[in-house]
Amino acid sequence: MSLSASIAKADTKNLDSNHNWRQVLRKAWRKPEELLDYLQLDSSLLKGIAPGQQQFPLLAPSAFIEQIEKGNPEDPLFLQIFPQAAEARQQSGLLQDPVGDIKSQASPGLLHKYHSRALVITTGACAIHCRYCFRRHFPYTSVTGGRSDWQQSLDYIRANPNISEIILSGGDPLMLATAQLEKISRSLLEFPQLKTLRIHTRIASCLPERINTRLVHWLRELPWAVVFVHHINHPQEIGSAAELAFTRLQSCTQMQLNQSVLLQGVNNKAEVLIQLSEKLFGNSVTPYYLHQMDQVQGAGHFNCSDIEARQLMRQLRAAVPGYLVPRLVREVTGEPGKTPV
Ligand code: SF4
Repeated sequence: MSLSASIAKADTKNLDSNHNWRQVLRKAWRKPEELLDYLQLDSSLLKGIAPGQQQFPLLAPSAFIEQIEKGNPEDPLFLQIFPQAAEARQQSGLLQDPVGDIKSQASPGLLHKYHSRALVITTGACAIHCRYCFRRHFPYTSVTGGRSDWQQSLDYIRANPNISEIILSGGDPLMLATAQLEKISRSLLEFPQLKTLRIHTRIASCLPERINTRLVHWLRELPWAVVFVHHINHPQEIGSAAELAFTRLQSCTQMQLNQSVLLQGVNNKAEVLIQLSEKLFGNSVTPYYLHQMDQVQGAGHFNCSDIEARQLMRQLRAAVPGYLVPRLVREVTGEPGKTPV
């Protein structure tokens, strides 16, 4: 049976021995009015959110919501997940696919933008919906075909021995059952040139229950260097459950990095970025990238100017050692790597 067929057949309920994280996810917040009520926020915040909410609905699990300050509509975590009327504003210069992912596909769901690395879009699912997401309009189903075209991706990797690193991305690759991840990794064993498996995930701060014993076991058994790239934008996202997830990952990864997106009203203050770097370091996670936001339609209200971004970096450099200063970058379509700002 081909890998694609067996992934499709995987019974996600029964194959992951400790699937408590799915129960947690089922209870995630999905109704804006209920969330406002829980956070003691005024229902006037519902005004005008319908368009964004329909295309890209609210989704946030309890670990993330519990870090939000009740009664504060400016809370930096709340702003990241709550649909806003501003999302419906059409702005020139903003795109549906701001980084050219669709054009970069070497095979369905496999992006080969950078020489030695290939990125696999494993799933369109996420544990949380971030309002600024550059893939918020991404046509996951038509692009990945539900991974039914996985064989083509394997053929492409076979034909390109320069690929030494596979990046599992999405959506969030950790939304797949561990059994599905095991099938993917088994299919990659045939490629002797592979040195590194990288996992891009937002799970640690929003669904830390996913870093369970079976996942850790899978990671520990992999024959490659495993690099986790977390996505955390604000120090308030790192609660005790996220800290436990980082600790568990220490035993089965070569390196844990973090990438943040610079977001107006969320983390565009030097003291926030300083605190974020220090908190990550305290958890053995290295600040890696600070991204200028990809210019995606519906998220223009989060934009920060390059002037502001550079000023923040100067303040950050003056306050923390160099190894805690992330690189300020943006992704430019067609460039062979991230572009320094
Ligand atoms: S978790 Fe990542 S892919 Fe999913 S919505 Fe957030 S930024 Fe986008």
